[in-house]
Amino acid sequence: MVEKGSLYIVATPIGNLGDMSPRAVEILSGVDVIACEDTRHSARLMQHFGIQTPCIAYHEHNERQACPKLVGRLQGGEAVALVSDAGTPLVSDPGYHLVHHARAAGCAVVPVPGPVALVAALSASGLPSDRFVFEGFLSAKAVARRQRLQLLADDVRTLIFYESTHRIEASVADMAEILGGDRQAVIARELTKRFETIHGDSLNGLAAWLAADANQRRGEFVVMVHGSHAESARVIDTEAERLLKVLLSELPLKQAAALTAKITGLKKNALYQHGLTL
Ligand code: SAM
Repeated sequence: MVEKGSLYIVATPIGNLGDMSPRAVEILSGVDVIACEDTRHSARLMQHFGIQTPCIAYHEHNERQACPKLVGRLQGGEAVALVSDAGTPLVSDPGYHLVHHARAAGCAVVPVPGPVALVAALSASGLPSDRFVFEGFLSAKAVARRQRLQLLADDVRTLIFYESTHRIEASVADMAEILGGDRQAVIARELTKRFETIHGDSLNGLAAWLAADANQRRGEFVVMVHGSHAESARVIDTEAERLLKVLLSELPLKQAAALTAKITGLKKNALYQHGLTL
């Protein structure tokens, strides 16, 4: 059932059309207009499912201009759906401005959940999935990419990145150098598609595997890296974390981290960084 004046955020398949949900088809068929990242790309999906709703363009280059018009249509009582080229809108895809402004204008925003590459990849990776951090795409510029990896080097959570065919080799080589070549990692390529590959090894092993086989560098990738095993990080997980949490309930993070460091002998900066994740 489609409600007038509501914005529907509709997930679509990341490869296999069989992953389209019946609810997604029902909502896309019932709304007044569909805002698409690429109307020509989405036309194939709509045709496959017999959806005849008009589509308009909503992408990163026209987001700011298209947004007020769409909010106006919502306020006028129309139902609008947002789709991206693949997967869940707003996940490394456009939509943030529209959702932000639609909610600010008091419009209902309704998720229609479905495929999202990072969750599909993580669920089949065999890496710890209780805590993870999604970093999206690393920078195309080597210096910025390496700086970002440096910041993540001590993070104990599983790290998840999106990557394209153009940079997969360079990115994984940088990860091996900066995060440590022995660290376990998993590459999920072309999920739900014909050449789906989920391959785990050390970062050094993955870098060599990519360098040796051009076929493994084709398509779309999710790269997942085991969190840091740094000794300090392991200790923080137990006793020190409890202490940090107690102090944090009374003190600002900086002081709580400094006091925990004095009591436990652990590094203040590591505790501060850990405190940010609590
Ligand atoms: N919104 C999408 C989602 O929900 O996952 C992501 C869009 S982002 C522009 C595209 C990136 O997502 C690709 O470069 C790749 O890193 C990842 N991706 C999308 N589909 C994928 C697939 N079938 N297999 C592996 N990675 C995929």
